[in-house]
Amino acid sequence: MNPLLTLAIAVVTIAAPVTLGYAGLCWVKPFTTCKRCAGTGRTTTRVLRHPRACRRCDRGMRLRTGRRVFNTFHRLRTEANR
Ligand SMILES: [Zn+2]
Repeated sequence: MNPLLTLAIAVVTIAAPVTLGYAGLCWVKPFTTCKRCAGTGRTTTRVLRHPRACRRCDRGMRLRTGRRVFNTFHRLRTEANR
């Protein structure tokens, strides 16, 4: 058996379930906890530690990267077919 074919089969059998699992996770649970503010929705400034709203999320939850990519392509396809 060709060693490159064996390597390709091994890569596909490992990468395909991981990719499909992440896609399923993005479909079932599109939002995740923000790591910057740890889900609180508030952070402090670096200099004087003043509390302010987190700029990376909306009330502690942010959209997963995979879901953001899906939404972008879905929006592009919708606009192209209009
Ligand atoms: Zn946040």
